[in-house]
Amino acid sequence: MELYEYKKMVCDRSKEAYAEGLLEGMNGNLSVFAREHGCVVITPSQFPYEEYTPEEMVVIDLDGNLIEAPHKPSSEWIMHTMVYKAREDVNAVFHTHSPYASAFAVAHRPIPAILVEMIPMLGDYVPLAEFSMPGTEEMGLNAFKVLDGFGGCLLMNHGVLAIGTTLHEAYLRAGYIETGARVCALAESLGGAFPLTEQQARAVASHYGMLGTKEDE
Ligand SMILES: [Zn+2]
Repeated sequence: MELYEYKKMVCDRSKEAYAEGLLEGMNGNLSVFAREHGCVVITPSQFPYEEYTPEEMVVIDLDGNLIEAPHKPSSEWIMHTMVYKAREDVNAVFHTHSPYASAFAVAHRPIPAILVEMIPMLGDYVPLAEFSMPGTEEMGLNAFKVLDGFGGCLLMNHGVLAIGTTLHEAYLRAGYIETGARVCALAESLGGAFPLTEQQARAVASHYGMLGTKEDE
């Protein structure tokens, strides 16, 4: 696939997520790893989503060297490239500050698997990574500590990190994390949010396929 197609994909998904409220202001960032080109297409730093065009997207290598730089790359480029270096199965990273999921990150609470679709998309729950300063290697390291076997995690007092084999998958996961957090908060306001039991989660996993559990468990 031409590099331009990757730029268009990142641009289009960003605008879509912005329209949906997953991204807000100039918060959040996303990228794809164009493996056949050996480079990462990432959203620009401090540039309004409404003004995105494919040409405004930034292209870097895995060490952060600029290949095409109409702007600075997102300040979270270190976390993005760390994920691609560490995980051969991941080709897309989606980072949001979506409000309900961020509320769980602020409350220091993992999001339990309360909805059936969360199990195949995200795993047994959405884990919480320890706090670290934005834009640092530590943020990537803390995320790695909890990400294994999950489709995404919360970044303490910050937001959401979703990963995927495709940008579409990472985007869906970022949305499912936000929906899971919203529904959980709403259910709690109604008197209680009851996660799927272990047995129910296993049944759902064997029906849909599972992320985050082994078949022999
Ligand atoms: Zn952020």
